[in-house]
Amino acid sequence: MDCIFCKIIAGEFGTEFVAQNEHAVAFKDINPQAKVHILCVPRQHTKNVAELTDPEVLQGLFSLIREVASTATDGQFRLQFNTGEREGQSVFHSHAHVLSGREG
Ligand code: AMP
Ligand code: ZN
Repeated sequence: MDCIFCKIIAGEFGTEFVAQNEHAVAFKDINPQAKVHILCVPRQHTKNVAELTDPEVLQGLFSLIREVASTATDGQFRLQFNTGEREGQSVFHSHAHVLSGREG
């Protein structure tokens, strides 16, 4: 499968993880849309959040999101799951954007 996030998770690009646990990893978005823009990505490949149904994976992902939100933001942030091309999804491996602060 030719999935860029599966490759990042496998360490193929040497991407630095700002946080990780058994079920998910977090790394900075390469094209930040806010002062803080971190992607939280389940290790399990599913194409979008609508297909992300495994309770343990969901628990692990949201545990990581809470960790990132508490360590990398001031507690005010947006959590975004783009789902489908029309709605802005460009990488078809489920992921949450953690966005905080305005650019500039
Ligand atoms: P989406 O458009 O919701 O599918 O989000 C995909 C995000 O992945 C975009 O915000 C991209 O900037 C980001 N992205 C793509 N490739 C990389 C990469 N190699 N490292 C970090 N972020 C990436
Ligand atoms: Zn994948």
